[in-house]
Amino acid sequence: MANLRNCSVCGRLFAYQQGRAVCSRCREEEEEQYMIVRKYVRDHPGATVFEVAEETGVEEEIILQFLRDGRLQSKGFAEILECMRCGTRIDGGKYCSNCLRDLDSQLKGAISPTSQRSATEEKKSRGDRMHTRE
Ligand SMILES: [Zn+2]
Ligand SMILES: [Zn+2]
Repeated sequence: MANLRNCSVCGRLFAYQQGRAVCSRCREEEEEQYMIVRKYVRDHPGATVFEVAEETGVEEEIILQFLRDGRLQSKGFAEILECMRCGTRIDGGKYCSNCLRDLDSQLKGAISPTSQRSATEEKKSRGDRMHTRE
């Protein structure tokens, strides 16, 4: 049975599958916006998000979403996002390089009994944060 949801962009009901709650029409539109933004950024490598948004007519929040997804990168966007774990300013993606290394070593450390407790706690707090973001 179809899992119906309201599109988070236009509010229409649509058959939700997975990922973000965006209907196919808005997704397509977003894809077009992505192409426009990507082209603009390529032609204007030093442009800030504000400039790109103004010149392309694409909302800043949507451009930031492209950055979080790791689809877009530009010199002008340096340190515009925050690491989801420690809040450090980062250029793209979800975590800073320190946290990526931490998370990676915790993943490996979780196998050894000595660091199991902290790894579990980290998992829990991260889970909570994921929840509030939704
Ligand atoms: Zn929509
Ligand atoms: Zn971090």
